[in-house]
Amino acid sequence: MSKFQSLQKYEETLASGYRLLPFRFTQLEGDAYVASNMVGEFIVMDRAALDDFAGGRLNPRGPVYDELKAKHFLLDGDSDVTVDLLSVKLRTKLAPLANFTALHLFVTTLRCDHSCPYCQVSRANDDRQEFDMSEETALKSIELAFRSPSPVLKFEFQGGESLLNLNLIRFIIEEVKRRNAEERRDIQFVIATNLALLSDEAIELARQHDILISTSLDGPEDLHNRNRPRPGNDSYKRTIEGIQRVRRELGRDRVGALMTTTAASLNQVKPIVDEYIAQDFRGIFLRPLSPYGFAIKTKFYQAYDQSKWLEFYFEGLDYIIDLNLKGFGFTEYYAAMVLRKMLTPFQPGYVDLLSPAGAGVAAVVYNYDGDVYASDESRMLAEMGDKSFCIGNVHSNTYEEIFLDDTLLEALESSFASSVPMCSWCAFEPYCGADPVFHHATQSDFVGKKPLSAFCNRNMAVFKGLIQRMNSRPEVREIFERWAYM
Ligand code: SF4
Repeated sequence: MSKFQSLQKYEETLASGYRLLPFRFTQLEGDAYVASNMVGEFIVMDRAALDDFAGGRLNPRGPVYDELKAKHFLLDGDSDVTVDLLSVKLRTKLAPLANFTALHLFVTTLRCDHSCPYCQVSRANDDRQEFDMSEETALKSIELAFRSPSPVLKFEFQGGESLLNLNLIRFIIEEVKRRNAEERRDIQFVIATNLALLSDEAIELARQHDILISTSLDGPEDLHNRNRPRPGNDSYKRTIEGIQRVRRELGRDRVGALMTTTAASLNQVKPIVDEYIAQDFRGIFLRPLSPYGFAIKTKFYQAYDQSKWLEFYFEGLDYIIDLNLKGFGFTEYYAAMVLRKMLTPFQPGYVDLLSPAGAGVAAVVYNYDGDVYASDESRMLAEMGDKSFCIGNVHSNTYEEIFLDDTLLEALESSFASSVPMCSWCAFEPYCGADPVFHHATQSDFVGKKPLSAFCNRNMAVFKGLIQRMNSRPEVREIFERWAYM
């Protein structure tokens, strides 16, 4: 059997009056198919329309033809600017790649006062100061960060509990600002903290340097304290007091929160969303658990499978959509990032949704000991004993040695979703990312076998779910369009 149609078949297509531009299609459910082009514009149609379109038999006077033409799926006699428009859109989508690394994560300490069983970082007890970053390591890391060509440099301080090494955070900020007096880049600072140890000094530092605070809030008090144990079992109380204090003293939008879904969260998505509303957040990121750090050591990652998380996710998403339909504006941030890819010409900077992978390109991590990792997940993997994504050390390697390292380049080379098996013909490829660290961690392979990949399984279900919801209800599409442009 021939793999290809006969030449005559293609000649008939040409003679029909339009030519096909590159597109891919995937079945949504039943007779409904989604087709997408290389810049992510998409159209949902039935099987017969798809067959007619691909076979060159589509009626030029029908509405499907007009939509396909407007979205650059076909080229006919009066649309000779289509290819130019398509290439401009593609260039716009890929433009952020040229800026290289904007996000620089500094692990100021591994010490932590919490002992979360799902912790994605293998923490150290809070009296073990040998796990603090030194000023010498910080200076060398700053030097590397400023070698990045990006006009925006975001410095994020992480732990452990980053505030346990507040003096080093102050040292780094002052040094970055001193250097930037000449460089004049757009500098942003973020402190990731559980807020339990928020001090007057930390608040004052944040005020002086316009620092954004990022914290963890897993849901209502019971769930949060169960997920995030600390001496006194008062993590929730301290976090909420910290959030309120930051808002009172620094401003309403100077604090954001992230949640992690554990097995205990799975039947509580509405109370979790309600908790975020009660704490006056404007949205929530319904995050799955990562297969790294203590999460895997304590078997938390295996505690639920992907289908359970997807049920949790869609129950939460539908609840949030209903709130919006009733007039209460609230956003699910993972959906918002995907929708930005689906409905706008722009790319969110979220590492997991970048292709080629965001590892080392969108973000880089300077560990407390000077080791440099291609992503936060790479560092977590190293804490489990797998240093495959350690791309150098600030004390012994140059910028060129670190960022042109084969480890990084090989991972990036195999992370162009448009050229890997299954992704290359998947209609969702323009929205998806590549996660070589995840696939290495779960399948010992940078690319991964996508039918067995939880990353693929999860993303595909989310992409389908979002398209189905906005395709079947115009009022939901309006909400999604607002989220996409946030
Ligand atoms: S990972 Fe899965 S959903 Fe994403 S592009 Fe590849 S095949 Fe499609």
